[in-house]
Amino acid sequence: MELHDQRNLDLSQASRLSSTATIPTIGLVVPCYNEEEVLAETSQRLLELLAQMRAEGLVTEDSSIFYIDDGSRDRTWALIQELSARHPAICGIKLSRNRGHQNALMAGLLLAPGDALISVDADLQDDLDVIPKMVRALRSGDDIVYGVRRKRTTDTFFKRFTAEGYYKLLAAMGVQIVFNHADYRLMSRRTIEALGEYKEVNLFLRGLMPLLGFRTSTVEYDRAERFAGESKYPLGKMISLAWQGVTSFSTYPLRLITGIGTVISMVSLGLASWALITRLFTNEALPGWASTVIPMYFLGGVQLLSLGVIGEYVAKIYNETKNRPRFHIDLLEGEAFRKISGKS
Ligand code: UDP
Ligand code: MG
Repeated sequence: MELHDQRNLDLSQASRLSSTATIPTIGLVVPCYNEEEVLAETSQRLLELLAQMRAEGLVTEDSSIFYIDDGSRDRTWALIQELSARHPAICGIKLSRNRGHQNALMAGLLLAPGDALISVDADLQDDLDVIPKMVRALRSGDDIVYGVRRKRTTDTFFKRFTAEGYYKLLAAMGVQIVFNHADYRLMSRRTIEALGEYKEVNLFLRGLMPLLGFRTSTVEYDRAERFAGESKYPLGKMISLAWQGVTSFSTYPLRLITGIGTVISMVSLGLASWALITRLFTNEALPGWASTVIPMYFLGGVQLLSLGVIGEYVAKIYNETKNRPRFHIDLLEGEAFRKISGKS
């Protein structure tokens, strides 16, 4: 038995070594929601990057770009089809409707072939120059390479303050997360397979990554401004993603409620005995309005808040137990998919 295990181990190590020694096929996974303004420029830059990496012998000829159209209402899909017809390295995945950035990204990761996939936003805010570094890290044996923002000078004060505060809050609640890392990262094939085993509907990918384990490293980059179009992450969506990150990975808010409840009960018990003592041993007890009405409002408020937070988790359980698919594929486009399905 032991011998057998040992041999398996040797075999897997051997296959691992050979896989890092050969040139990898890379897929660039790009979720797009109403990105008609940026697609042409993005494609040009990504194609140039692929050509450069091929020339350096860093990636194979089969390395491709995968655009995921997340139910855009503009010409995004038409553009992806045009680009795909013109460049064999460009492929498209069209989701049946808008499912949000995290789901679109997941669709790309689960469908795109390749020895490793790199997720990058369509607006090229993430500096592409670090991609060759990521690939080199992969070839030296890393399974996940995180793109980490060096500084946030291009952000407004509000965004910088809220984002950094948020990462710290998550850490304080015990959620493992890579500081200042969004969704710009390289993942090896086996980490993508591991990710595929996480079936949750409430996706917060950057919270899942550290749970996977494997050998990881980081590369630093500066984030630029969006070069065209406007953010597809308005404040509402951002708050929703942030809340997802808290409630999908931490039960701390539930525990906090118990804590608040305990403290308030103790304080009101103390107040009650104080009132009783005043009533029994002094003549100063007045039929007080404030002492009855204020605690009523206060407790009412705390109870509603607590119910709200509990309700949030119950809603999560509800969504997870339904186990609905995270996305549906409408259409696939491009060489890489033709090769897989065997169609000509
Ligand atoms: N995105 C998406 N579905 C959505 C919202 C955004 O696929 O519902 C994509 C978008 O096209 C972009 C990426 O997610 O490629 C990040 O969005 P954006 O750049 O607007 O966010 P920001 O950088 O402003 O946080
Ligand atoms: Mg952006």
